[in-house]
Amino acid sequence: MPDEEESNRGEIVLRVAVPLPLRQSFDYLPPAGANLTGFRPGCRIMAPFGRRKLVGFLLETADRSRISRDQLKPAAAVIDSLPLFSRDLFELLRWSADYYHHPIGEVLATAVPALLRQGKPLYEETALWSATGDPATLSGRARRQRQLLEFIVERDHVSRNDLTDAGFSSALLRQLLDKGLVRERTQSAPASPPFTPLRPGSHDRPVPNEEQTAVIETFRDAGSGFRSALVNGVTGSGKTEVYMRLMEDELAAGRQCLVLVPEIGLTPQTIDRFRQRFALPLAVFHSGLNDSERLQAWRAALEGSAAILIGTRSAVFTPMARPGLIVVDEEHDASFKQQEGFRYSARDLAVMRAQKENIGVVLGSATPSLESFHNAETGRFLRLELPHRAGESAPARLRTLDIANEHIPGGLSELALTKIAQHLEAGNQTLVFINRRGFAPILHCLLCGWMAQCENCSAYMTVHAQPPCQRCHHCDLTQPVPNHCPVCRQNELSTSGFGTQQLEAFLQREFPATPVLRVDRDSTRGKHKFRQLLAEVDRGKPAILIGTQMLAKGHHFPGITLAVIVNADGGLFSPDFRGQEQMAQVIVQVAGRAGRGSGRPGEVLVQTRHGDHRTLDKIINSTYSEFAGHILDERRAAGMPPFSHLCLVRAESANREAALSFLRRARRGIEALGREQRVHFTGPLPAPMEKRQSRFRMHLLLRCGNRPGLHTVLATLATQLDALPAPGDLRWHIDVDPIDLL
Ligand code: ADP
Ligand code: ZN
Ligand code: ZN
Repeated sequence: MPDEEESNRGEIVLRVAVPLPLRQSFDYLPPAGANLTGFRPGCRIMAPFGRRKLVGFLLETADRSRISRDQLKPAAAVIDSLPLFSRDLFELLRWSADYYHHPIGEVLATAVPALLRQGKPLYEETALWSATGDPATLSGRARRQRQLLEFIVERDHVSRNDLTDAGFSSALLRQLLDKGLVRERTQSAPASPPFTPLRPGSHDRPVPNEEQTAVIETFRDAGSGFRSALVNGVTGSGKTEVYMRLMEDELAAGRQCLVLVPEIGLTPQTIDRFRQRFALPLAVFHSGLNDSERLQAWRAALEGSAAILIGTRSAVFTPMARPGLIVVDEEHDASFKQQEGFRYSARDLAVMRAQKENIGVVLGSATPSLESFHNAETGRFLRLELPHRAGESAPARLRTLDIANEHIPGGLSELALTKIAQHLEAGNQTLVFINRRGFAPILHCLLCGWMAQCENCSAYMTVHAQPPCQRCHHCDLTQPVPNHCPVCRQNELSTSGFGTQQLEAFLQREFPATPVLRVDRDSTRGKHKFRQLLAEVDRGKPAILIGTQMLAKGHHFPGITLAVIVNADGGLFSPDFRGQEQMAQVIVQVAGRAGRGSGRPGEVLVQTRHGDHRTLDKIINSTYSEFAGHILDERRAAGMPPFSHLCLVRAESANREAALSFLRRARRGIEALGREQRVHFTGPLPAPMEKRQSRFRMHLLLRCGNRPGLHTVLATLATQLDALPAPGDLRWHIDVDPIDLL
């Protein structure tokens, strides 16, 4: 009964995720004649989808489908014969799609390099030809064909390069193929072998001090399976040394280490240190890689030929053949949270990944996030502390500079200028830090109070000197600076607030003989600009550095002895409940830049108009850990994270009412279930930044004491939102554990 046999053999169904914002999977039949040995979840197929073909990932194979057999389409092709992810990593990806309520097809697509997303094979295949016929059968007229066939027989098999080198054309080869005298087969490039394990004692490194030794021993004592630790260590306490010691254990055993950093371009020194310490193959995932370089680095990680993998947020998905350890440096940094599309936290996923792969994970920071701090306090993370600087250098002295009643046209008070002069005279460098968020030069009218606002966003325009214009930092709208007030028509416009450019001009006037170096997104746009600026600072001559957030990220400037924070007040009155935490992190991180060279103590001045504010006082006069404990008490009392879990549902549309009513209906749909699960709803309300790029933004905030309850509600909410009718331009998304509430 051949018919029945046919249908039994055809029983297998491929359940596939496609890279579209769709929550369901799609069933396909295997392509006719496909060899499915080794074909497992995480392999790619070409999936016919409407009139298109999409690169889909196999989620699972099944023996039946909800769709009747005759309606199932066969996949167009099987791309991989081996999965792109280990079982553990694949499980992590499925878990994160559930946890972040994001379509699995998009999650999987995010996790692989662009070329694989486009359906390119993991290994470029090369064609090889061998002879199947006898050259003697070719008649005398086909002399060139016979020469080619003899050449192939002699070599056993030949590649395209062999043919070109020997002067044979493709047309000639085609003729032999047509006659059936030559056979073609493909072969993929071989995988590289695993790296050679680190030889102990093969490299110089400092002897760990007592505190470092205690930290290293505690981590080692925790065994070899899953363990997670927070290294809470002040700037310069030797956290990086500790990471390297712990990595050494793994590298000596032939296991790979994954290091996540906030921004590669800003931490060239850290990467150089890893490179110099370990003479082992390193794969760095930075934005300068082209697609094929990126694929190559990814493959080296997958094969295990690269020992150390360094990258930013998305590198958390880099496969490892032999995983050993994950390090998340500067774990508090907001850049670990993806803010669009698949909104995941690389820091949280690093911990989850370590658990799935049963390996260690180390988070480190001088200013840990309150979430991690809390995890260390409650014993979920090993709590490892490095309260002192490792080298000779003493911690910087912080003090506030109250400017409440001062008129400071240039942005810096008299006292700050005097201090800068003193430090420069002593042959040192100064850092002037300006937190641009909420502190940009704004154009306003002195008579009627008008302020220049962006017409597309709920935001003020920022005045730029070079080139002269006003620009919106949210939509890039650029306009000439008006010369009179559009409301009262008077010619009394002025700017308030200070940006980096203004500060640069002011400081250059005040200190004409000293180089003033501005480090921000604008001044470092060119590829090597940032390195050039850093090299100039590294020469150590007296100089003034002006910088934004970029400068506070882990860079080591031994010549800087004074740091001035121009305006620290933004965070005190932020609409975001994390405002004070972020402000403390910035102040402590900036302070960490000062006085890192031995024998030159650092000094930090914090300019403020609220010198007696309790929070500011706590930041200045206690350790970060004490401050964190204090803020945690407040969060506990208010039931805010980490004592509850948040989820933000955003909707945006050019039609304000449409966005609002969409979220109102969303809330109504889950209110009963929400009550049952003790979910607390806020909104829908306009976002603090209500309008952006001409679109109105509305928020519905969900808060819950227990995660499972929140996720039950979110799962229902996601399906409901998918089905809710809305105008075509309305966009919505779910942001689990949001960090940007603006
Ligand atoms: P962090 O990562 O905490 O900022 P680093 O690991 O960069 O600290 O260390 C700060 C400085 O102290 C570096 O120059 C480093 O080489 C040095 N250092 C760290 N640990 C030791 C040690 N045990 N002995 C001597 N120098 C050390
Ligand atoms: Zn006016
Ligand atoms: Zn704008």
